[in-house]
Amino acid sequence: MQISDTNVAKSAYTELENRLYEIHNLGAAANVLYWDQSTYMPPKGAPARGRQLATLQKLAHEKFTEVEIGRLLDKAESETQELEYESDKASLLRLTRRKYEQSIKVPPEFTAELSQHAIESYSIWAEARPENNFAKMQPLLEKTLDLSQRYAAFFPNKAHPADAMIDESDYGMSVETIRPIFAELRTRTIPLVNKIMNKAEIDNSCCFQHFPEDKQWQFGIDMATCFGYDLTRGRQDKTLHPFMINFSIDDVRITTRFDESRLDDGLFSTLHETGHALYELGIDHALEGLPLADGTSAGVHESQSRLWENIVGRSRGFWSAHYSTLQERFPKQLGSVDLEKFYRAINKVDRTLIRVDADEITYNLHVIIRFDLELELLEGKLAVADLPEAWHARYESDLGVRASNDSNGVLQDVHWYAGVIGGAFQGYTLGNIMASQFYAAALKDKPQIPAEIEAGSFDTLHDWLRTNIYSHGSKFTTAEILERTTGGGLNLNPYVDYLSAKYGEIYEL
Ligand code: ZN
Repeated sequence: MQISDTNVAKSAYTELENRLYEIHNLGAAANVLYWDQSTYMPPKGAPARGRQLATLQKLAHEKFTEVEIGRLLDKAESETQELEYESDKASLLRLTRRKYEQSIKVPPEFTAELSQHAIESYSIWAEARPENNFAKMQPLLEKTLDLSQRYAAFFPNKAHPADAMIDESDYGMSVETIRPIFAELRTRTIPLVNKIMNKAEIDNSCCFQHFPEDKQWQFGIDMATCFGYDLTRGRQDKTLHPFMINFSIDDVRITTRFDESRLDDGLFSTLHETGHALYELGIDHALEGLPLADGTSAGVHESQSRLWENIVGRSRGFWSAHYSTLQERFPKQLGSVDLEKFYRAINKVDRTLIRVDADEITYNLHVIIRFDLELELLEGKLAVADLPEAWHARYESDLGVRASNDSNGVLQDVHWYAGVIGGAFQGYTLGNIMASQFYAAALKDKPQIPAEIEAGSFDTLHDWLRTNIYSHGSKFTTAEILERTTGGGLNLNPYVDYLSAKYGEIYEL
């Protein structure tokens, strides 16, 4: 009896695993097509590529929502109850169950309607933003809001209409958990920015000179490999909007863009995407080809890009080791700029209109504005027609700036115009908060890390992150990863301490 039960479990589990491998392969193939589309594809290839991607995604979705997946899950679960929670098998069943239950709640006709609308909305946004034409977007955004609320209605157990969308990217988080933390961060950030603005402005003109692209490219990739990015398992290519993408654990690629009139844009975007890539490259090979071979959430993923980009890449220690190399590469531009001046330049705080160009401190204010506004939209407290003015009002109150148009206001980010409203912004700031929590935990375990970074080595930090975060892929939720590494939950203090110490010193507050 015992033996036959085990055999049944094995076969149900193996059958499920085989199906998941196939679905994963479809997703990886779609990633290759997407990567090509964003890097090398000639423009006229776009319509056919769109159809090819849609076919792969449809096949993957159909295969995953088949009734048989549910049956195999039931069987595999009932026969494998003795498995350790942390085992790969138990983790795979847990994750698959969660994603399966979520996928089958949304009818395929709705998914098709939503993706059709997203394509149309995106193409009109691509015209409306340069035209500064919110009126053109308004009816589409109203439909997006309606679709977002209808999506939320498929999950009636959720307390807030944004929760289902938040769950998808940051599983386990909710409006209830995020709102008070963001409110507190906002309350603590605004006075800090005000204090900084009363100080002498930092001269960052050294970053705004002519920096030839080929040299920027080489320096960026050299720093990426210094961090531990393995070029036998990855590569860098040029794109319009940088991203990281993986085809397998041994093929994780980054993309970068360069602006020859400034150094910071290309450099820090390379370090950012490298952070995302280190996460994916560090996943245990035993998880290859399965849904577990993925970062656990948008927030934890972003914590790694921000940790390498900012906590390491904008630190004095890092540049103590590498600034002389940068000067050698750009002797005309930086030969007479000393380390201290450069360090201050790359950490200049300023009130600006555009999120993606914002410094470490004000960046979160940009995110929190979007998060708050989308909650108001979803709650029905704010009408789409009133959104542009609500946007301006929040920028004035939180950042002290007002855009003279909607292109640099409510139309600036693609998120609301190419998907749903909700779930896409919180991960950026959650990432910043968790980056500091993880870094503080790493330092507690390995106090030698800052000295090593100053000496140009990242091995201890990288090993700690790989062991405690990367290797697990999606085996553990965000909350579990936080608990395992820090002994607690989401906590703002390490991040606020980090910002206060760093910028207190730079601006002599
Ligand atoms: Zn990122």
